[in-house]
Amino acid sequence: MLSTQPQLLRLSQGQLNLLERCPRQFQHTYLQQLNSPLDPEHQERQTLGSRFHRLMQQQEMGLPIDSFLQEDAQLQSWMSAFANAAPEILTSADSDAFRESEHYRTLQVQNYLLTVIYDLLIADNLQAQILDWKTYPKPPNKRKLEKNWQTRLYMYVLAQTSEYPPENISMTYWFVQSEGKPQSIKFSYNTAAHEQTAKKLNQLLNKLTNWLERYQHGEQFPQVAEGNKACEYCQFATRCDRTQISTDVISAANSASSIDKTLLNLATIQEVTL
Ligand code: SF4
Repeated sequence: MLSTQPQLLRLSQGQLNLLERCPRQFQHTYLQQLNSPLDPEHQERQTLGSRFHRLMQQQEMGLPIDSFLQEDAQLQSWMSAFANAAPEILTSADSDAFRESEHYRTLQVQNYLLTVIYDLLIADNLQAQILDWKTYPKPPNKRKLEKNWQTRLYMYVLAQTSEYPPENISMTYWFVQSEGKPQSIKFSYNTAAHEQTAKKLNQLLNKLTNWLERYQHGEQFPQVAEGNKACEYCQFATRCDRTQISTDVISAANSASSIDKTLLNLATIQEVTL
């Protein structure tokens, strides 16, 4: 007998970011899978980011990492800089605390299954800390990072799926490649932010449900308004007839690889592969 349960659509923070930024881009990327391959430079950064994450995971599991480090001077320098900047994260003083790297959680909201993967979760009987490693050259603007769905969703899901009150939850990004030494940006959660995220999330998912229903009847997802900056960096500009900007400008904007773009792509670098 066929199930009458609706199928859950799995969503990550990267997909929520894209949906909020431009619904049509979400359609092209996730429903039609029209993405072009990554450029070699981006690919290389992604590979290095993945290797750093694997290294941190092995370290957390107590597995040997020396052979990794010997093979790669870049990883070695990031690792030793991070060990100097945040030794307390690598060696927990509280042996009773729960620690897990690549900690995976899901939460159903409406007909969607929201998925998160924490690079490291440290939780004791009082508080829970989410840690996330980034291998970008410098930290992005804190206000923008706070609004990014990675920050909002990660803390929201933990509050919804654990006994911790929002006030006892935090999320810290570590930027290992910052000039000088690794830098961190920490966000503390609270009930007001939790309620605000719940509201925004439900609004966005309601819109998605509506757009998906219309899409099934042949209607495309909405585009952003003409002149929106998002089109300047978008690979679908031709398809969307938004090519008034010269290719030079697009390529300059792409190579500048703005922090905005990086934020959008938090999901595409191995930091968060969902
Ligand atoms: S070109 Fe503009 S409207 Fe079209 S998908 Fe990209 S951002 Fe959206």
